[in-house]
Amino acid sequence: MKIGIIGTGYVGLPTGVGLADLGHQVVCVDKIQAKIDSLNAGQLTIYEDGLAEMFERNRTAGRLSFTCSMQQAVSGADIVIIAVGTPPHPVTHEADLQYIYAAAAELAKHLTNYTVVATKSTVPVGTGDKVEEIIRTHNPTARFDVISLPEFLREGFALHDFFHPDRIVIGTNSPQAAAVMQKLYKPFADKTKILQVSRRSSETIKYASNAFLAMKIHYINEMADFCEKAGADVAEVARGMGLDARIGSRFLNAGIGFGGSCFPKDTMAMAYMGRQFKSPLELIETTISGNAQRKIRMAERVLVAVKDMPQAKIAVWGLAFKNGTDDCRQSPAMEIINELLKYQAHITAYDPQAMDNARMLLGDKIAYAPDMYTAAQNADVLVILTEWPQFAAADLAKLAQQMKHKILLDFRNMLDGSKATDLGFNYQRIGKKY
Ligand code: NAD
Repeated sequence: MKIGIIGTGYVGLPTGVGLADLGHQVVCVDKIQAKIDSLNAGQLTIYEDGLAEMFERNRTAGRLSFTCSMQQAVSGADIVIIAVGTPPHPVTHEADLQYIYAAAAELAKHLTNYTVVATKSTVPVGTGDKVEEIIRTHNPTARFDVISLPEFLREGFALHDFFHPDRIVIGTNSPQAAAVMQKLYKPFADKTKILQVSRRSSETIKYASNAFLAMKIHYINEMADFCEKAGADVAEVARGMGLDARIGSRFLNAGIGFGGSCFPKDTMAMAYMGRQFKSPLELIETTISGNAQRKIRMAERVLVAVKDMPQAKIAVWGLAFKNGTDDCRQSPAMEIINELLKYQAHITAYDPQAMDNARMLLGDKIAYAPDMYTAAQNADVLVILTEWPQFAAADLAKLAQQMKHKILLDFRNMLDGSKATDLGFNYQRIGKKY
């Protein structure tokens, strides 16, 4: 099949690469010329494990191409996937749909044959109706169906999740569109549940899922605070809870609060929809405010650790919102750093992948180290903010020699606390008092 993908970001690019690898003819369009130039020159614009090799293989095979021309991507396509951003509106925090609507208007005039227009971007309930209306207005004779095709991939595992999804949700009542999508996902049919539901249910499934996961994270973070006071260990508590099949062990790692490009904006958008439909979503509202508070409280913990040290040097390991990605959007690490900067903190940071993106956001407000040990050199305190596996394997004895004061704030619960205290560190983690 010919598939057009609108938007070559963290969702569009891995999706395009994955679909090309399944043998489809994929044309990706983006409005940012620099991205397209880079991709056409064989340079990836995002970091994702395994993406480079598959990208190159399919590009060379001629199944995957990149363009700024909407016509090239849409004309003759069997499926057009919309994967543009839906950022939060700066004032109301509802999902800002301007890029979706613009994409719908732009693609409409290039529809030639019957085409399934699939919205993969995360969009509020009812957006499919509006997209359909826009396309119809711009091209009254076009033959198309608009479906909801929510994306559940995790950044850092985008290709893995593309090829091994927990489920595929197809939101449409059109038998013709459903048949096209069943054909597309045939290679997955034996191993993956393919759920066909109404478009509005599909749009809701995505928000309801993300909000639930965000609540789970917030819940275990509150439990972590409780455990610290009650003399329990949240890691043990989470293990005990997670063994209950009804609860499950994932998303029970206590930490610094959720972030990234999805959970913060999707919880806010869901809460907005609740208010809009006069159906309050109080658990989600509480999760949003509690999560915002958490990052401030984490920054306060750092400040308390260095309170008697004017000009304290704070080393930070981790800037990305989680490991496996270079994405710093709404990264809790960045938010904690910004909070610390309000107190004129001197920060030197290292992240294995996110340094360039962090530099774009923070500029020279902090210093950047070429590796994790250089970041910690002469530091008064070391704070771990992203759970990169290499931090877990840190040589604590080496750190003990390098640092000025041996204060270790392991906010991702990665290190061996007993070993750290044996080496004389003031060691703190989340959800257990040392
Ligand atoms: P992104 O910002 O990384 O990429 C969006 C791309 O779309 C940009 O490159 C932008 O230039 C391009 N674009 C915008 N308007 C365009 C237009 N009219 N024509 C061509 N290109 C256009 O966004 P993302 O992280 O890939 O997210 C996309 C959507 O998927 C969002 O709705 C998001 O909520 C959802 N989603 C994201 C993830 C994730 O992990 N990032 C996971 C699931 C769902």
